[in-house]
Amino acid sequence: MVHPRVLHALSLPLLGHLDPVFLALMNEIQALLRATFQTHNEFTIALSGTGSAGMEAVIANLIEPGDRAIVGVNGVFGSRLATMVERAGGTALRIEVPWGTTIPLEVLQDRLSRSAPVKAVVLVHAETSTGAWQPLHEVGALCRNHAALFIVDAVTSLGGVPVEVDAWGIDACYSGTQKCLSCPPGLAPLTLSSRAVHSIQQRQTPCHSWYLDLSLIAEYWADRTRAYHHTAPISMLYGLREALRLVHEEGLAARIARHQLNSDALMAGLQTLDLMPLPPAGHRLPMLNCVTLPDRIDDAMVRTELLNEYDIEIGGGLGPLRGRVWRIGLMGESCQQAHVLTLVNALEEIFARHGWLRHPGRAVQAVVETYTDSQRSARRSA
Ligand SMILES: *Cc1c(COP(=O)(O)O)cnc(C)c1O
Repeated sequence: MVHPRVLHALSLPLLGHLDPVFLALMNEIQALLRATFQTHNEFTIALSGTGSAGMEAVIANLIEPGDRAIVGVNGVFGSRLATMVERAGGTALRIEVPWGTTIPLEVLQDRLSRSAPVKAVVLVHAETSTGAWQPLHEVGALCRNHAALFIVDAVTSLGGVPVEVDAWGIDACYSGTQKCLSCPPGLAPLTLSSRAVHSIQQRQTPCHSWYLDLSLIAEYWADRTRAYHHTAPISMLYGLREALRLVHEEGLAARIARHQLNSDALMAGLQTLDLMPLPPAGHRLPMLNCVTLPDRIDDAMVRTELLNEYDIEIGGGLGPLRGRVWRIGLMGESCQQAHVLTLVNALEEIFARHGWLRHPGRAVQAVVETYTDSQRSARRSA
């Protein structure tokens, strides 16, 4: 869902892409993005294109032919990153772990010591295909010890869980607008450390993509130059500014707490229905709740009934998880108590109708109790 203020912003009259009023708006977006990525990086922009454009830009600019990069592969997006490294002429040293799990720090450490020198370590913070939450806070120091750049995909995580670019030593981080930032798809927030910028400046060969060449795009976003590269998607940038204002009016900490609470409530309900989380405890994303299906449940039938009768869309499994899991998004504006209650109630009705559930009502009860407990403990600490 997108907030009405964002929809309104998308409909405002257009400005030229070099109009001083528009340039001021770009500055405001950069400041809001820095606060969201928790970074002081000067190079912090909104790239034209969806999250995959951010992914492609980071890889195409930081990986040169002949470079080697360690890529964590535990789902769809890790394997897309490895493909992009190879298309950029690099070698992807894949660390493959079962879908649903995360890359252990020791495995990364071992691979780095054995494979050094490598140009970069690439990890997906929130693997949307499995619901796995990759710990990152100790990886940056490890990369620095081996003179490798640290690249992070934060498409699904930004605005839903902490993303601390400076504190975690991340050199390149990109996101997308349509996940937890609750804006229509079309832009990729992107930030580069001075080490990453330096590495781009030192390239032996020009970036093979002209459109995504970050050294050219930087000249449009930098206050000093403002050189035309390609026409900025004006209305999308209006929308993003408003979406980011909403993020910071709520406050990052409050927004993150809201995602966690609604996810806890949802998972309490789902587990009562025998729908068990795929990722291990401590590695479960709050905005992408991935649960495994017991054999008796008909995957396609339930998802069709949810959509047709209750107007609720949940995701099915991808790749090896096809037919075996559901992926339930609680992102940004859509992450609401009412949605959690509606979904769990709908699942109880559908399960009971098909004879898969003997005691309907218990799952909704578990959801309600989670909210009541959290209110009680908030009152106690106040
Ligand atoms: C959605 C997503 C992407 C790709 O973003 P698009 O906007 O679909 O191009 C990349 N990485 C992750 C982890 C995602 O969830």
